[in-house]
Amino acid sequence: MPTPLPAPYFVAASAKAAAMVGLDADELANDDLVAVFTGNKVPPRAKPLSAVYSGHQFGVWAGQLGDGRAIMLGELKGPSGPMELQLKGAGLTPYSRMGDGRAVLRSSIREFLCSEAMAALGVPTTRALIVTGSDQGVLRETVESAAVVTRMAPSFVRFGSFEHWFYRDKPDELRTLADYVIQTFYPELADDANPYKSLLTEVTRRTAHLMAHWQAVGFMHGVMNTDNMSILGLTLDYGPFGFMEAFNSGHICNHTDQQGRYSYANQPQIGHWNCFALGQALLPLIGSVEDTEDALEIYRPEFGRRMDELLHAKLGLTTHSEDDSALFDAMFKLMQDNHVDFTLFFRQLGKLRVDDLGNDAVIRDLFIDRVAFDIWAVAYRQRLRAENSDDCVRKQEMDRTNPKFVLRNYLAQIAIEKAQQKDYSEVARLLAVLEKPFDEQPGNEHYAALPPDWASHLEVSCSS
Ligand code: AMP
Ligand code: MG
Repeated sequence: MPTPLPAPYFVAASAKAAAMVGLDADELANDDLVAVFTGNKVPPRAKPLSAVYSGHQFGVWAGQLGDGRAIMLGELKGPSGPMELQLKGAGLTPYSRMGDGRAVLRSSIREFLCSEAMAALGVPTTRALIVTGSDQGVLRETVESAAVVTRMAPSFVRFGSFEHWFYRDKPDELRTLADYVIQTFYPELADDANPYKSLLTEVTRRTAHLMAHWQAVGFMHGVMNTDNMSILGLTLDYGPFGFMEAFNSGHICNHTDQQGRYSYANQPQIGHWNCFALGQALLPLIGSVEDTEDALEIYRPEFGRRMDELLHAKLGLTTHSEDDSALFDAMFKLMQDNHVDFTLFFRQLGKLRVDDLGNDAVIRDLFIDRVAFDIWAVAYRQRLRAENSDDCVRKQEMDRTNPKFVLRNYLAQIAIEKAQQKDYSEVARLLAVLEKPFDEQPGNEHYAALPPDWASHLEVSCSS
C-alpha cells in the first residue's frame, strides 16, 4: 500500500497522457485525483502491488535492487490499449531495502518532462501522467521536497525482472514471467517452435531500434543498467539523462559514471551487452547457447539499418548511395572538432539550399572552423544534386525529423527552480513547447537557444 504524504498538491499533468487512458487532464488537478496520484487515497478497485527486480549495474552483477520505488495501482484501458499506472515515490514497500521509497520534486519533474518530450519526438518511451508534491522533506545530498510521479506503460517489466528469477535459480517463476510477457505483449510469438528464443529476438530487435532512436536525437540515458531496460523496448527510468548539446561523442551525461561506460558513443554497444544479460537469464527457457546467440545476432544489423535510415532522414536524403557512410562520418568528425550543438546543427541544416549559398551563414555560424564546414557542404550539395533534391520539400521533411526543441538540462533546471518556489507555471509552459518539438513556434525561440554560461556547471547524478 502507498504511504500517504502530508497535504499533497498538484504540480503538473500531461493532457496527452491523460487522453491515452480516458482521463480528463483538467480533473487531474482536483483534490480527489491529487490524493489518488499521491497514494493518499487508493481507488476501490485498485490492488496495489510492487514488483521486485535485480540487475547488472555498471557491468557488474548487483543482485536484488528494488522495485523502482514504484507501486502499481492497476490498469486503465484507453484508445491505445491498457496501460499500467504506477506511483513512483509513494513510500516504503517490501523491496525498498535501505531506501525511503520516496522521490524528490527535482527528479520527478525531470522524469515527467522527458517522458512526454521523448514521446513527442517519436521515441518509444514510458509516459508520465501527473506529478504531485508535498512539503515533506526527503534527505538526499540536501533536504528536498517529496513528489510522486505517476507513470504509464503497457508494462514496466525489465530485463532485470528476468535476471532476478534466473539468478535466484527459480525456473518456474522465470517461466511464468516469460509466458506472461509473451501472451500479453508478444502473442504473435506464442506458437513459434521456440517462443522464448523468439521473445529474445524481438526484444533484441526493439532494443537495437531504440538505441538508434536515442543516437539520432542525441539522447543519453545515463544509467543503462539492465534493470533500466524495458522488455517492450521503451525508454525507461529517467535519471541523469541529457540531450547532446556541444557535440562530443564521448560525452558522459551522468556525473556518477566516471568511466564513461554509458557515454553517447557507447550506448549502442551497451544496448547489445544488456541483451546478452537478458539472453543469459532466458537461457534455461531457450534451451541452448546456440539458439540464444542466434537470437542476439540480429542486434548489429538491426541497429545499423535503423541508424542508417534515421541518418538519411536527418540529412533529407531519400535515396541510398555507397558513399553515404563516408559523408556521415565526415559530418560527425566536423561536429566533434567544432563542438557544434547537436540539435541546432541538424535543424539549421534543413535551411541549406542546393544552388544558393544565401542561407549558409546560419549553419556556418555554428562552426569555429567555417571553411571545414564549407568543404563538407560541397560534398553534401553534390549528394543532394545526385538525387535532384528539392530545397522546399527537403526542408519540410527534415523539419519533421530534426526537432527544434529538446529538453536541454538548463531548461529543466529553470522550471525546477521555479517549482521549488511553488511556481509551477514554467513546468506547464515547457511541457507545451516540448509537445510540439518539430514546430517553429514563433515567440518560443528562446527555448531553442544554446545553454547559458551558468549551465556549464550543471551536473546530474543518480541521486533522485
Ligand atoms: P536506480 O539506480 O535509481 O535505478 O536505483 C535502483 C533501484 O534501487 C531502484 O529502482 C529502486 O528500486 C531502488 N531505490 C533507489 N532509491 C530508492 C529509494 N529512495 N527508496 C527505495 N528504493 C530505492
Ligand atoms: Mg532504475
